[in-house]
Amino acid sequence: MAGKRTITIIGGGVIGLTAAHALIGAGHDVTLIERREDVGQEASFANGGQLSYRYVSPLADAGVARDALGWLLRPHSPISLRLRADTMQWRWLLGFMLACNRRTNRKNAAILLDLALAGQAELQDWRDAGLDDFLWRRPGKLVLYRDSSKFRLAARSITDPDLQRALSPSECMTVEPAFAGLQSRIAGGIFSPEDEVGDCFLFCTALRKALTRQPAFRMVQGKAALAPGRGSRCALRVNGRPFEADLVILAAGIASRALARPLGIDLPLYGLKGYSLTTRPQPGTLPAVSVTDYDNRVVYAGLGDRLRVAAMVDIGTDDTPPDPRRLAELRALVAATLPGAFGGGEDAPWVGLRPATPTGVPVIARTRYDNLLLNVGHGALGFTLAVGSALRLKEIVAGADV
Ligand SMILES: Cc1cc2nc3c(=O)[nH]c(=O)nc-3n(C[C@H](O)[C@H](O)[C@H](O)COP(=O)(O)OP(=O)(O)OC[C@H]3O[C@@H](n4cnc5c(N)ncnc54)[C@H](O)[C@@H]3O)c2cc1C
Repeated sequence: MAGKRTITIIGGGVIGLTAAHALIGAGHDVTLIERREDVGQEASFANGGQLSYRYVSPLADAGVARDALGWLLRPHSPISLRLRADTMQWRWLLGFMLACNRRTNRKNAAILLDLALAGQAELQDWRDAGLDDFLWRRPGKLVLYRDSSKFRLAARSITDPDLQRALSPSECMTVEPAFAGLQSRIAGGIFSPEDEVGDCFLFCTALRKALTRQPAFRMVQGKAALAPGRGSRCALRVNGRPFEADLVILAAGIASRALARPLGIDLPLYGLKGYSLTTRPQPGTLPAVSVTDYDNRVVYAGLGDRLRVAAMVDIGTDDTPPDPRRLAELRALVAATLPGAFGGGEDAPWVGLRPATPTGVPVIARTRYDNLLLNVGHGALGFTLAVGSALRLKEIVAGADV
């Protein structure tokens, strides 16, 4: 280690909190700045709950541009696009299209898989050391394919049969009987028995509790802002006042883009709006394994006695209020797929912005400012990649000449 550092992290979502936990573990002093009253209130609040370690292929892939056209024309589509007079949106879409080829997808999927698997092993250590109470389970993940060509492609892409298996429709229903009604409508499924689930907000809360027991940790409620400072350093202000910081880590989700702009750093982030529902299913309907309905891009995870369903990628509607039409479409899709999902009622629906890069690969890196590191852009996989990203960041801090 390059010595004990005094580190300030901007952002109390799952990315900032896991970074804080890893850096405290490495012996640093850490201050976390969060503008909200509590941690995990934005994209990390009610996400899909999947720790999808073996299924990290980025959205940008060969054929996605063609599929997207189909989705955009289809009613109740999982993806919607509203083009805007916004150069950021156009640049992001161009970057996304350029990443839509098999070679780039494979390369980026390998980077994400490394991050994910390193994070899974580390999370096991954190849990062994007492991090608990976030409804964690390791039930495995089943991805169901309705389209036979997509299923065949997915089955051919399995690299380690010990970690992923291609299943027939009837085998899928043995693994997860709650989806038995789909048997005649699916071509098959890919099962990853080692994948996990958890409640991301409760995970954030568990991290905050564990951190606040550490004398080297301090949490400050306030709004951070960055500006160029002296020499090659950036200056941090919190609630308008200068804030002394030896090393700053920007981990503020989608807000990172605006925070970095005064520094002349143009982060390739775009907010992909998604929805989740949390229901109390009727007995026998709560899936044991986590399930992805691939063709509809809907994920299902049992969290305690609740079912968490997450879906939709809405591009160009980065205002956060839920769109009642999209919510109604999602409820109809879930009711058609898993009758009984709403049997015991439903909690408040939720909407969040995935802080996405065009390639799906997060930015965990130094910057041209000696005292600023980035940990941003985790898109649709932030819960899955958080711990691995924190380890990567810890390595950069250890080697950082800052
Ligand atoms: C519908 C949906 C479903 C999803 N499902 C899954 C899933 O199943 N599995 C998975 O792995 N991932 C999933 N994700 C992705 C995951 O939720 C995100 O990638 C992750 O939460 C991003 O975390 P973050 O910490 O970067 O951002 P956030 O959680 O948004 O945290 C950023 C924090 O920074 C704070 N902040 C911002 N600006 C400032 C400032 N100026 N000063 C101080 N604080 C500031 C904010 O208040 C916030 O608390 C899903 C996302 C959505 C929207």
